[in-house]
Amino acid sequence: MDNLIEKLEKTRSLTLGEYKALIDAFCPELAKVLAEKADAVRRRVYGNKVFIRGLIEVSNICKNDCFYCGIRASNKKCDRYRISADEILECAREGYKLGFRTFVLQGGEDGYFTDERVEDIIKRIKAEMPDCAVTLSLGERSKDSYQRLFDAGADRYLLRHETADSGHYGKLHPSELSLENRMNCLRALREIGYQVGCGFMVGSPYQTNEHIAKDLKFIEEFQPDMCGIGPFIPHKDTPFAEFSAGTAEFTCYLLSIVRLICPEVLLPATTALGSIKEGGREEGSQAGANVVMPNLSPKSVREKYMLYNNKLSSGDEAAEAVRELDKKIRSVGYEIVTDRGDRRKEK
Ligand code: SAH
Repeated sequence: MDNLIEKLEKTRSLTLGEYKALIDAFCPELAKVLAEKADAVRRRVYGNKVFIRGLIEVSNICKNDCFYCGIRASNKKCDRYRISADEILECAREGYKLGFRTFVLQGGEDGYFTDERVEDIIKRIKAEMPDCAVTLSLGERSKDSYQRLFDAGADRYLLRHETADSGHYGKLHPSELSLENRMNCLRALREIGYQVGCGFMVGSPYQTNEHIAKDLKFIEEFQPDMCGIGPFIPHKDTPFAEFSAGTAEFTCYLLSIVRLICPEVLLPATTALGSIKEGGREEGSQAGANVVMPNLSPKSVREKYMLYNNKLSSGDEAAEAVRELDKKIRSVGYEIVTDRGDRRKEK
């Protein structure tokens, strides 16, 4: 293992077989070694800074039917909502006062959010808060649409690839959705000039270590600006209700490997990681993560954006508690900063 780790540190690249061997070797001792190395790399590039993103969940209405997701179209028990442009602006203003300089507009694929409507929202945020970055996470759209939203001022786009193996992709999604289209979207976003985020769930149904090796190889080749990695957590009203969740420990192990592959990547300690384990986000930070994304959505809708069982939306997840969060983050040696938190490019 020592040779593999040394190679990874030096070249930031392994073969698929080597990634698989490293993943197979997962154990608490190795996790600790990799977390220390990842933390050193993260401190070299970003110091002890943790960037915060205000997550605004704009709609849980979705035309897609992803088998893992609690807001999938066929979930009749999901209480649907969308928030208005005015409410989104209000959330952003609230967030601005709390020190947020990035707002992430995330939602299901809700046809209401046409290019015109999203352009209008982006322009309003940018006009009022020109020192802020706007990140979109609104799923798959056409290249033309991505271009229009970029031209309106959007800076970043999060679109997890979910799995880099097309067979596995087919087991997580209905046949209308394909890995090919997901990848085309990611490439289009990159070409347009967004800072782009990909990512995947850890411990999703049918996932094997070969699949994860492909995810890591994809991340190595794509060189995302951001990378969202969190444990899969079952949702009771989905076809995957009976599957078990991914673990915080394995998620942190993979966060560390990703930090070593991409030293400058913006790597969140996700809500799912904080939801699966008390202190999960602090552990993620110690394993190489440098971003947290507290919830800025209106309180009345927070419980409704339920992607998985027991998703945190209050306590430290809530943006109002950013000072509490800062305390916890400080207790493990980092600090939250008021900053757009763009990706460093030091090479
Ligand atoms: N509609 C947008 C946003 C999706 S929600 C899009 O398609 O990109 C953001 C992420 O939550 C998804 O990409 C998925 O990886 C994650 N997610 C969904 N259901 C989940 C579950 N049950 N457990 C853990 N993560 C989940």
